[in-house]
Amino acid sequence: MELVSLAKTRLMNMTEASCIFCKIISREIPTEFVAETTNTVAFWDIVPLAKVHLLVIPKQHHRDVAELSENAPQILSELLSTATDLAKKYTAGSFKLQFNTGAEAGQTVFHAHAHVLSETAKDGS
Ligand code: AMP
Ligand code: ZN
Repeated sequence: MELVSLAKTRLMNMTEASCIFCKIISREIPTEFVAETTNTVAFWDIVPLAKVHLLVIPKQHHRDVAELSENAPQILSELLSTATDLAKKYTAGSFKLQFNTGAEAGQTVFHAHAHVLSETAKDGS
C-alpha cells in the first residue's frame, strides 16, 4: 500500500479507536439499544433535549452524514428507515430528524448520527 494511503488508514483507525459511538457499538461502553438492524443501532440520547430524543447511528464509522451519503448511501437509507420506524413507535407522529454536520452546526460526536426529536410521545406524555 502506498505510504499516503497507509497513513490515512492509520489515522482513520485512530479516530475510530477514540470514537465514543464506535465504543457503544463494540460494547466497550454498555448502552441499551432500542433498535438494531444489519447496519444501524439506536439508543436514547444521554442528554435529552426533547420528550423523545433518540440517536440512530451506522455501525460503520463515517464522520458525518455527508460522508455517509457519499460512501454508503444504502446505509443512510437504512438509517432513515430505522429512524422513521422508531418515530412511529415512540411518537404521536410529529417529529424532527436532525443531522448536525460540522462543529459550527453543533456536531460534537464525529460519527454520523440522526437525532429523532419529538415533544409528543406516543403515550401522550
Ligand atoms: P451532536 O451534538 O449532534 O454531535 O450529538 C451528539 C449527541 O450524542 C449529543 O446529543 C449527546 O448528548 C449524545 N451522547 C454523547 N455521548 C452519549 C452516550 N454515551 N450515550 C448516549 N448519548 C450520548
Ligand atoms: Zn465511530
